[in-house]
Amino acid sequence: MPHQGRTLIRAALVVDGQGRRASPGAVLLENARILACGEPATIGQPSGATVTDLPDAVVLPALVNVHCHLDLSHIGPMPLDGDFVSWIEQLRPARAETDEAIAASVQRGIELALAGGTALVGDIAGVRSLVPIRQLRASNLAGVSFLEIFGLGDRQVDAVRTMQEAVGDCPADERGIRLGLQPHAPYSCGRAVYEAAVQLQRPLATHLAETLEELEFVDTATGPLAAMLKRFGVWDDSIAGHRCHPIEYLARILSQEPVVVAHVNYLDNGHVEKLAGWPITIAYCPRASAYFGHPHAGRSPHRYRDMLDFGMNVALGTDGLPCLDTPDRISVLDDMRFLYQRDGVDPVTLLRMATVAGASALGFDESLVTLAPGPTAGLLAVQIDGDDPDEPLSQVLRRDDAPQWIAGPFPIR
Ligand SMILES: [Zn+2]
Repeated sequence: MPHQGRTLIRAALVVDGQGRRASPGAVLLENARILACGEPATIGQPSGATVTDLPDAVVLPALVNVHCHLDLSHIGPMPLDGDFVSWIEQLRPARAETDEAIAASVQRGIELALAGGTALVGDIAGVRSLVPIRQLRASNLAGVSFLEIFGLGDRQVDAVRTMQEAVGDCPADERGIRLGLQPHAPYSCGRAVYEAAVQLQRPLATHLAETLEELEFVDTATGPLAAMLKRFGVWDDSIAGHRCHPIEYLARILSQEPVVVAHVNYLDNGHVEKLAGWPITIAYCPRASAYFGHPHAGRSPHRYRDMLDFGMNVALGTDGLPCLDTPDRISVLDDMRFLYQRDGVDPVTLLRMATVAGASALGFDESLVTLAPGPTAGLLAVQIDGDDPDEPLSQVLRRDDAPQWIAGPFPIR
């Protein structure tokens, strides 16, 4: 009996981030469910199935971008002119301000994320607005829209009220997009803001230990970030240094909550061991880190491989389009490529960071972004050269072809 909606996809390699692989390989789908994955001979050719043969392609599950800023997409890639602080100051007036402009920027970001093979996003809504979450809820993406909050010193009271109102006004989970909260960073949010965010019991994210300027600010409330906050008119005399590293500053929260922590470029001795005991995810954005020239001042490179060795959940993010070198897509596939080419990381480890690590960080079922039997977020094909003797997934990571959707993206609810 023919089976309506069944599709058999055969490719040079089918592979996921949990170790499923077959080369050549096949995936049998029925609508938005994977029925089987393995060698073509094992799966056979079920009657009535539509067959797609891709002998010069690798088939992967859809990707997860655990840290992006889709509301900066209208700016496009932006050359770095100066340091981190001057970059923030250039970005500030370029942000979209009206609801229409914010919606258009997020929509552009949604299209670029989909063009990059993304099914799930951890998106930072950086303009104190619920327009981004509404735009995401009208799209084919799923994930978390983290409303970004700023509030230091006397401004913490307002910041807490903004979060409470947003949580009251906006459904927690609708059309696969959940409302999350992101206290922006330790140099822009006081502890009361972080503590209130925890109490509101929504998915949480923050930027952490991104720059040396942040380390100086948290320690002594001095330096270029203090000067910037004074120029922005958000300084008051209650703001003081904490005489510690940002990790210690937020230890009470991070040691207890599954926060998605972006960047973490600068750690001191013993920090990786400490972080490994906490329920957090590291959102590593390698292209964005390189864009800002990290590590500065002879500090050690990013410790993501040590974090992986300690069993930490390390997921990949892109950060915003202004930091990227791909104007036509926003994709962690390009961050996998960057790490493969720079550091020679094992390809399946990279695929795990770009799929299941992100899904679990955002609170979604990991199997949606694997080749396991059951519901799937979708499947991607990436071109390779069938005559190249190199292993197919390594070829994907050496090339720069855009991923193509061959199934999905399917709604995740
Ligand atoms: Zn960010």
